Amino acid sequence: MNEKYFPLTKAQLEQTAQKFGTPFYLYDEDAIRKNIRKFTKAFSIFPSFKEYFAVKALPNPYILKILAEEGCGTDCSSLPELVLSEKAGISGENVMFTSNETPASEYQYAFDRGNILNLDDITHIEYVEKSLGKLPDLISFRYNPGSLKSGGVNAIIGKPEEAKYGLTREQIFEAYKICKEKGVKRFALHAMVASNELNPESFEETARILFQLSAELKEKLGVRIESIDLGGGLGIPYKPDQVAVDYDDVAKRIRKQYDAILVPAGLDPMKICWECGRPITGPYGYLVTKAIHQKHIYREYIGVDASMADLMRPGMYGAYHHVSVAGKPQECDRTPDSPNGGKPAQTEVYDVVGSLCENCDKFAVQRTLPKIDMGDLIIVHDAGAHGRAMGFNYNAKMRCGELLLRPNGEIVQIRRRETIEDYFATIDFDGLANF
Ligand SMILES: *Cc1c(COP(=O)(O)O)cnc(C)c1O
Repeated sequence: MNEKYFPLTKAQLEQTAQKFGTPFYLYDEDAIRKNIRKFTKAFSIFPSFKEYFAVKALPNPYILKILAEEGCGTDCSSLPELVLSEKAGISGENVMFTSNETPASEYQYAFDRGNILNLDDITHIEYVEKSLGKLPDLISFRYNPGSLKSGGVNAIIGKPEEAKYGLTREQIFEAYKICKEKGVKRFALHAMVASNELNPESFEETARILFQLSAELKEKLGVRIESIDLGGGLGIPYKPDQVAVDYDDVAKRIRKQYDAILVPAGLDPMKICWECGRPITGPYGYLVTKAIHQKHIYREYIGVDASMADLMRPGMYGAYHHVSVAGKPQECDRTPDSPNGGKPAQTEVYDVVGSLCENCDKFAVQRTLPKIDMGDLIIVHDAGAHGRAMGFNYNAKMRCGELLLRPNGEIVQIRRRETIEDYFATIDFDGLANF
């Protein structure tokens, strides 16, 4: 069983809810730092390693700054994400621009700052050359291995052949060839073919495919790839019965392929990169919400003050998030005041629901939980990646803010909640009056 930790006691959580109001996100800085150190240490078996944190998972510059202190760069997919990285003090080749359907102005912005352009298609060579007036010295391409990637069909990304991303095998040879002829000096290779994958063999296979391709590129074109980005996609155990990916195991498996393919091909040293989001912050972020209604119709419902606007994974993918109730620990729950978990005195089967006019707005469906009383604080776990970031304003729901638990126990607000003024900021009401 995988333990579901929450870093505050019931009293501390109640104080925090009193001070900042509910709902809110809470991130655990100490846990984020410890985890990224473990991750980096596992991959230190390569001569050169870099994690480019996928900004889309948790686009908060305070978090990016913490990760930068731990040696991470960022992986960006849009102009605002490039700007966020810059604001967090991350610059130059520490920023990877893995975008698709990218406007010229965004390529220009990234190029002007020396960020790495990771192109998604062969036609983008010409597009970038026209947009910038030249090609950068360093270019990366995103590879789509199509049916070469066998390891099961990934639930979120699907089959590579059906995914819109990247260049085919044929195109990728052509693309490096064209770039070499046009005077590009440095080359990188990237693929992202899985999402929330827990099977370590899948990453070994991705590495093997990219390593073999790099060896072929050297042999056939004389193109020396200098860094290989394995993408993101390392999963986390959302369910208590799932097991976390062992970073050391993944690193050793990839090292095995490195020794078998890259070393004999004369491609050692090769820089190995990840652009993970989910495993870096996912387990260390929580959505805290309050039970404000209970209704009994054909099922028993608990209505909370957060909604799918704050966390849409359950509604969008039917994703499972563990739910705990403050002060009423279940077997797998761990908090500073109940370090061994507990057994609820009374349980009920609930749908825990938000306020959106969409029936998929449910944080938990037919879930056995401790008996919930009105005013109880409810913790939705593993919300630290693709959580608030995916939120939206449908139904004119204002998204909640973000709090950071510092290693010294202090809790600071790193993003305030949205207000009705934010929602109206794009509308000209004076114009309306004269309309
Ligand atoms: C979403 C994404 C990531 C991060 O994925 P995680 O599952 O959060 O690790 C990395 N790279 C690209 C190109 C992505 O689209």
